[in-house]
Amino acid sequence: MKNNIHLSDLISDSSMADDYDPNAMSVEKAKAWIANFLNPIDQKETIHIKDALNRILAEPIIATMNVPNHDNSAMDGYAINLDLLSDNGPFKLKVTGKLFAGNLLEGNAEEAVRIMTGAIIPSGLNAVIPQEHVELNEGVITFKTKPQINQNIRHMGEDIKSGQIVHQNGRRIAPCDLGLFASLGIDSIKVYRKIKVAFFSTGDEIISLGNPLLPGHVYDSNRYSLIGLLKRLDVEIFDLGIIPDDKKVIEDTLKKASNIADIVITTGGVSVGEADYMKDILKKIGEILFWKISMKPGRPLAFGKIGKCHYFGLPGNPVSTMITFYQFVREAILTLSGQTPIPKIPLIKAKLLGPIKKIPGRTEFQRGIYEQDNQGIFKVSPLKDQGSGILRSMSEANCFILLHEDTAHLEKDTWVDIQLFDSLI
Ligand code: AMP
Ligand code: MG
Repeated sequence: MKNNIHLSDLISDSSMADDYDPNAMSVEKAKAWIANFLNPIDQKETIHIKDALNRILAEPIIATMNVPNHDNSAMDGYAINLDLLSDNGPFKLKVTGKLFAGNLLEGNAEEAVRIMTGAIIPSGLNAVIPQEHVELNEGVITFKTKPQINQNIRHMGEDIKSGQIVHQNGRRIAPCDLGLFASLGIDSIKVYRKIKVAFFSTGDEIISLGNPLLPGHVYDSNRYSLIGLLKRLDVEIFDLGIIPDDKKVIEDTLKKASNIADIVITTGGVSVGEADYMKDILKKIGEILFWKISMKPGRPLAFGKIGKCHYFGLPGNPVSTMITFYQFVREAILTLSGQTPIPKIPLIKAKLLGPIKKIPGRTEFQRGIYEQDNQGIFKVSPLKDQGSGILRSMSEANCFILLHEDTAHLEKDTWVDIQLFDSLI
């Protein structure tokens, strides 16, 4: 489907997609549609590995050396030549040298050498006995049990082999990768540049922090929730403030945003109220798909393009903003940033500690508080206040209870799927 369908085709002829029903789009279908129109960035930059955490690898990392680079001892003990041992112990071997990590043995190894962890195994020796298993007397070790061949030896290339692809491009770099790259002698790597995300709030009633609230006004919370959500995704942020419900100003701001960013996010103005202009403006300066998603909270959602820039119009209610971000924008940002594969949000089974009322036909994301009991079983309590404007319960919650489209009322003790907030980077 990708690349064969254009946003404009879909908008002008919705019969192109049998499942395109803008008035009752399921969460999964809307996600699938959006995925068709996402163009991952291809600009790369070279950075030092110490700055690379969470960045997306833009080229495969190929090992040019073996790790470890030589057979070495995994223990402090004695490296021995097993071939000299008879069938039955106790065994006795003469110790003819001492080897520290980083040092080379002077002379030849004969029967046994004292060896420290990390030191090169001298040629001809083929097992290491831990020092606790031997008795040392006047330069001779005695031990009862015959070691296995290669025991306590870390072999050259057993961690990474020269020529091996260590990571493919598209990987989000994790803490251990930094150490892994360093172990290969790699100090700088190519990553995709950071995604640029511009955003603004819309609404005549929305007031910036630091100003007095007049009757009917509300402080702009969405922009701050968005800053939090976006910072976790490690994108470059362009905060364009609050824009009044004025077609011309919104249009100008959208144009400006689309010139500086890969994604523009607006909150508010996508429902069907009189001052909800986003659809008209986007039609004029770009292309827009406008859905009523069969989900709660967060019914209205707009997705479109202004030139090359991707556009998300999120509903203004503070909880709806966050939920639509988590369910749609997050995945789009990960895709645009070049990450592959995109990690699915893990679903965990939890037992309901109270009943839930729900009508089938739409997906619901209820706020809940989960805990794990002594046996490790997840249990979840739905919060009482589930209104889409109640940010407090979002802040108290630590998970979403995901109620699938066909789910109806649920009794206490039913198993449900939950998404932990901690897993929602
Ligand atoms: P709208 O989507 O523009 O119809 O707004 C829906 C509701 O969300 C209204 O009650 C708005 O006042 C509220 N709202 C919209 N934007 C924000 C914002 N940035 N911060 C807090 N509340 C908002
Ligand atoms: Mg509004």
